[in-house]
Amino acid sequence: PESQETFKFSELTTKLADPDQLRLKPDVSELKFGQVFSDHMLKAFYHERLGGWQKPVIIPFENVSLHPAAKVLHYAIELFEGLKAYRGKDGRIRIFRPDLNMNRMNSSALSSGLPTFHGEELIKCINRLVQVDQEWVPHKEGASLYIRPTLIGIDGTLGVAKSESALLFTILCPVDSYFDGKEEGVSLLADPRFARAWPGGCGDRKMGSNYGPTIRVQTEAIKRGRQQVLWLYGPEEYLTEVGTMNIFAFYIDDKGDKVLATPPLNGLILPGVTRQSIIDLALEYKEFRVEEKLLTMKDIITLQRQNRILELFGSGTACIVSPISSIEYMDELIEIPTLQQKSPIFKRFRDELYAIQYGHKKHPWAMPI
Ligand code: PMP
Repeated sequence: PESQETFKFSELTTKLADPDQLRLKPDVSELKFGQVFSDHMLKAFYHERLGGWQKPVIIPFENVSLHPAAKVLHYAIELFEGLKAYRGKDGRIRIFRPDLNMNRMNSSALSSGLPTFHGEELIKCINRLVQVDQEWVPHKEGASLYIRPTLIGIDGTLGVAKSESALLFTILCPVDSYFDGKEEGVSLLADPRFARAWPGGCGDRKMGSNYGPTIRVQTEAIKRGRQQVLWLYGPEEYLTEVGTMNIFAFYIDDKGDKVLATPPLNGLILPGVTRQSIIDLALEYKEFRVEEKLLTMKDIITLQRQNRILELFGSGTACIVSPISSIEYMDELIEIPTLQQKSPIFKRFRDELYAIQYGHKKHPWAMPI
């Protein structure tokens, strides 16, 4: 659409916080995820009747003021993204494959009737925001600055209809490394009574409305002593995702060949940036088959009984990869030997992505800001 041309980095202006407004940077190792934010934020309004996107601004971090009837508050007309800025070994700050986040953000916008934009323009605005708050990018390898672009429908009218006005904002928060050196596997709850996504739905979009309803199930998992939910779908009990991560299985097929498999992007799966990167790396290795294919709970149980499952792991921006050690399913605990492998591939993917993100390895996926 024509209005997407109206979002322009060239129109970005910056209003810096007064020195006495700047906050002390916390010790990142004491932070829980998403509780402390940097000094500035990016904001851009969209108004259909004013021709589209208004000039983006970087301003001191502030509350957002909304009409109580704003559509985001009633019908969850909103979407978000998650990516990170990493301070490299050489002191340079890089972000990882932001173009993929922008594509996903625009596809979420289309599904929500929210305005789209040119991804490169928002990337440039985000880069500027990170430059402004660069001292908030932790000086600690493994830690990073989490970037949360968000787009909300703000019409103050209760009709269940497309929002003619919207607010795009981006906030930043420092986060420590997810992985602290000791290797621990996560334990999952797989309960076929629950579903995260379904055919014809929006599970492949990063819309807030996909996440609210997962809280109850996640709480149930914790209550049963598990850490994450393994999301199954349908009578076949297809594995779809784990918590807010994509899932990978590494196993030996019935011909004795090693296979790395992850579910295909069939509408139920969020197209993860980490997922795509692991597939891309694995295809380069040419050491085992790489397949986007459906896996059922029955497949996992059979592979496990026949000692053919090698590894199960989740993938996502938060942790890169997270090894899985067991699955509670129908009151049974299925042990997965991910951490018993001598040189597990999950570790190889983690090490390689980490090396790219922190500038140990030069790679076009890491974009200096
Ligand atoms: N699945 C879901 C449901 C998620 O929320 C996320 C996090 N964005 C992922 C998978 C992993 O995606 P990415 O690798 O882009 O972080």
